[in-house]
Amino acid sequence: MLIVHRKKNVTKLIDQSILSGKSIGLVPTMGSLHKGHLTLIKQAKDKNDVVWVSIFINPIQFNNINDFKKYPKNLKKDVNLIKSISKKINVFVPNEKEIYDGTPKLKIYDFKNLDIELEGKYRENHFNGVATIVSKLLSLFKPNDIYFGEKDYQQVLIIKQLIKIEKITVNIIICSTVREKNGLALSSRNNLLSISERNESSIIFESLSFLKKNFNSLKLESIKKSIIQSIEKNKKFKVEYLEIADSKTLQIQQEINLKKSYRAFICVNVNEVRLIDNILLN
Ligand code: AMP
Repeated sequence: MLIVHRKKNVTKLIDQSILSGKSIGLVPTMGSLHKGHLTLIKQAKDKNDVVWVSIFINPIQFNNINDFKKYPKNLKKDVNLIKSISKKINVFVPNEKEIYDGTPKLKIYDFKNLDIELEGKYRENHFNGVATIVSKLLSLFKPNDIYFGEKDYQQVLIIKQLIKIEKITVNIIICSTVREKNGLALSSRNNLLSISERNESSIIFESLSFLKKNFNSLKLESIKKSIIQSIEKNKKFKVEYLEIADSKTLQIQQEINLKKSYRAFICVNVNEVRLIDNILLN
């Protein structure tokens, strides 16, 4: 298994792969890998001749320095998990200077309003930061396929827009959200929760599932209000947002027109740990 830290070494290997006609799959991550990441990596292994996993906690996509500082790190464990899938997978672990050629510079994009609601509203410049790093990774790896999780649905739409803006030829492969038995979406941030907080956080997916069952029959505002109230009965839980949005434009909806497709999006702070999730409603 190759663990590469320098861009110039990646470029050499990528050039060889392209010359020998091999297809390249890229799975960008921030590490502290869990089964959600591993399903992305497995899908890449099944589809592509060469698979790269990048591990980099990108400072410019964090709007909150504490969130950045406490983001969990487990490189040794990550490498072993990837090895358990295949020793042929390559891992790219750059430091900040290497990936950004010095200090990171945020690029500002026009995401056609996809970034003004939900995560974009509560995390200033988060998606410009995500797009800046993904753009760098795409030009370094020139992948045929790049893998993202549906758990970060807004991110997927942003990357699709980035690819249009930068006219990059790459397939985006979207993998379904992997969950704990109790429904909680797997996330590296779950490592920061106590066992009881993890158990209690099952209410997040229960709430989304309840919305899916009932959104057709109830008034949206009142159903949202009652869900938020029931989540916040637990004093450790604070709902940052619960919204129903158009699946394509991410415009927030107060009323439903059943000819369109909608998703519900939620962000809950559990003892200062931000957990997000979403569900397709129809
Ligand atoms: P992160 O390391 O959080 O940046 O995530 C790296 C990739 O893994 C992103 O495309 C995420 O959407 C995806 N991912 C994270 N959690 C899950 C999950 N529970 N199920 C599926 N994919 C996930």
